[in-house]
Amino acid sequence: MIRAGESVLEVSDLVVEFDGFRALDRLSFVLYADVLTVVIGPNGAGKTTFLDVITGRTRAGSGSVRFLGRDTTDLSDYRIARLGMARKFQAPSVFPDLTVRDNLRVAATPAKGLWTALRGRLAPRTRETIEHSLDITGLGPLASSPALVLSHGQRQWLEIGMALAMQPRLLLLDEPVAGMTPDEVERTAELLQEIARRRSVLVVEHDMGFVRRIAQRVCVFHQGRQLVEGSFERVSGDRRVREVYLGVETP
Ligand code: ADP
Ligand code: MG
Repeated sequence: MIRAGESVLEVSDLVVEFDGFRALDRLSFVLYADVLTVVIGPNGAGKTTFLDVITGRTRAGSGSVRFLGRDTTDLSDYRIARLGMARKFQAPSVFPDLTVRDNLRVAATPAKGLWTALRGRLAPRTRETIEHSLDITGLGPLASSPALVLSHGQRQWLEIGMALAMQPRLLLLDEPVAGMTPDEVERTAELLQEIARRRSVLVVEHDMGFVRRIAQRVCVFHQGRQLVEGSFERVSGDRRVREVYLGVETP
C-alpha cells in the first residue's frame, strides 16, 4: 500500500542530449507516492524523453534516477519493470486476434513467451490479477472478444489493464486520452483515480480539462526542465506557464 508523503521517484540533474541538442537539461523532479501527478508542457518540452529515461529505454548522459529508494539510473528497462514500474503499452503491443482476456494473460506473465503464456494452467494469483484488470477497466463483458472489436477508448483501457496486470507500484501513462470521446475521457478519469488509490500514477497529458479533473499536482516542463509545479489552479495562473504556452518571451 501507498504511504502518505513517501517519494517513489527522485530524479536529479538529468541530462539527455540528441546530437548536441538537450532534450532534458538538468531536470530534477520528485514524485510522491500518494499524489496523482500530471506532467504538462509544450511540444518538445522533454516529457516523453523523461518517461523514456526513467523506464530505462533511453540512457541519461548525466544525472540520476532513484525508484523506490534504489538507484536505477543504469538499470535495463527489463530490470526496472521488474522493480515495479509499468508504462501503458503502445498500440502495437495489443494482439488484435487474441481475446481481451488472453491479452491480459500475456501481460500478466511477462517472463513467458507468447505461446507458453497462453497454454498451461494459470497460478490462482495470476488469475485474480487478470480478473481484477477486467473488472477495474470495465472490460469484463468483452473478455472473450478479440481485441480487434474494441473501440479506440476500449483499446486504451485494455492497454492500461495490461500495464496493471504487471502489478506495478508505479504506473506511467503518456497522453492516455488522446483521440478519446468526451465520455471515454470521463471514464478514463474515473479509472485512473481508482487505480491511484492503490498505486502511484504519473500521467503526461495535453488535455487541460482532463488534467484539471484528475491532477492532485501538476508539473510543467519546458525546454527540458521543470518550470513550475503545484496545484492546477496555481500552475494555470502562473505567468511563466502562460508565456510558454503562448510562446511569448518574458520581457
Ligand atoms: P514532448 O514529449 O514533451 O513533446 P520529447 O521528449 O518527445 O518532447 O522531445 C523533446 C525534444 O527532443 C524534441 O525537440 C525532440 O525533437 C527531441 N527528440 C526526442 N527524441 C529524439 C531522438 N530520438 N532523436 C533526436 N531528437 C529527439
Ligand atoms: Mg511526448
